[in-house]
Amino acid sequence: MRIGKNLKKFLLFTVALFFAATLFIKVTKIYNFFGINRADTPEKVVALTYDDGPYPPYTNQLLDILDRYGVKATFFEIGRNIEKHPEIVPMIITRGDELANHSYSHKDMMFKPNDFLVSEIEKTDKLLKELGVKQDSISFRPPWGRRFVVLSYLLSQMHKKLIMWDVDSQDYESTHTAEDIANRVIDNVRSGSIVVMHDGGGDRSKTVAATETIVKTLQSKGYAFKTVSELLK
Ligand SMILES: [Zn+2]
Repeated sequence: MRIGKNLKKFLLFTVALFFAATLFIKVTKIYNFFGINRADTPEKVVALTYDDGPYPPYTNQLLDILDRYGVKATFFEIGRNIEKHPEIVPMIITRGDELANHSYSHKDMMFKPNDFLVSEIEKTDKLLKELGVKQDSISFRPPWGRRFVVLSYLLSQMHKKLIMWDVDSQDYESTHTAEDIANRVIDNVRSGSIVVMHDGGGDRSKTVAATETIVKTLQSKGYAFKTVSELLK
């Protein structure tokens, strides 16, 4: 009798756990809790993304390299840096690259009040739109990719995509050479990959050098480059 009771309890627990897990998966899908890491496509296309700019001279140098190879990328910019270097935003628009939002002050967004989260997102959107960004829905990436369910929910309410990555270049590691950065990206990309690099936050000359190698090598392997929005279409 005792075993039967325990078995019943165990079965009830398993069923409850199953429903809770299903509900959790549904909710995370609806609110895109984890964000988008890559596009589901068999095509050899990749999106290069740069965080933490605009930041001269590196953003400018990257734009020149991308242009030289006929490649488009996506720049997740910080509002505060846009205020310091507003002239770079129209430059990015003119060249056909995509602008996206990387918060206003690059503060950790984990477990912060809703007001703070919304203002960090809206302030940067406003700056981007004032400088000519026409997109209805500007994509968002939180600082360090740190997100939690409330942020994901707010973004879905604001009709914004939460963009993460599946290939981390680790260009922020000071010991990594330009070659290390390039090889890490080249060895890890696959169809639909989103690559994260940085055009701001310090000396990014290694990222600039790595970008040229990445673009040249991947183009020779048959890869095309798209902005995040084009990749996810
Ligand atoms: Zn960042």
